[in-house]
Amino acid sequence: MRATSVYQTLIAFQQTFVTAVTFDADTVVIDVAPTFKVPRCSGCNRKVKKGYDHRVRTWRYLDLGGMLTVLRYGIRRVDCPRCGVKVEKVPWADTGSHFTLTPGSGLVPR
Ligand SMILES: [Zn+2]
Repeated sequence: MRATSVYQTLIAFQQTFVTAVTFDADTVVIDVAPTFKVPRCSGCNRKVKKGYDHRVRTWRYLDLGGMLTVLRYGIRRVDCPRCGVKVEKVPWADTGSHFTLTPGSGLVPR
């Protein structure tokens, strides 16, 4: 079983897939992405095709095996016709939070 498959099972967020896992001395970095291609506005939850930019962010996850564990993703900002420029909604964390949701409880964007 590949490491990405193991972590896919471990983190258990809906609509989230693990693209890579990297280890260093005391940290596990899990690269993730939403399973949906079109980003959703965090202000109104609409699908917004018009992108603005993106930047890599990390979210602190529960420590696994005593190692600090973070999820990493190049989060997109969208130019929403209703809300203006907003960060996209991700299934593993609340908007603006630097921590993930409780594992297994992932928000399901509508
Ligand atoms: Zn919006």
